[in-house]
Amino acid sequence: MRGVAKSKAVVQVYLVCSECRTRNYYKKKNKQYKKKLQFRKYCPVCKKHTLHVEGK
Ligand SMILES: [Zn+2]
Repeated sequence: MRGVAKSKAVVQVYLVCSECRTRNYYKKKNKQYKKKLQFRKYCPVCKKHTLHVEGK
């Protein structure tokens, strides 16, 4: 058996509302991308757009 599976290079991360800590979205992320992901997205709990940051 030759070759290592390359599909492991992509991981699934959650986008967590920075205000209420709810996991509202998830995204696929390349492991080689070292920065934390941040997006402004709508949070149904806060009922407004908030900053969502990468979480586990
Ligand atoms: Zn929220």
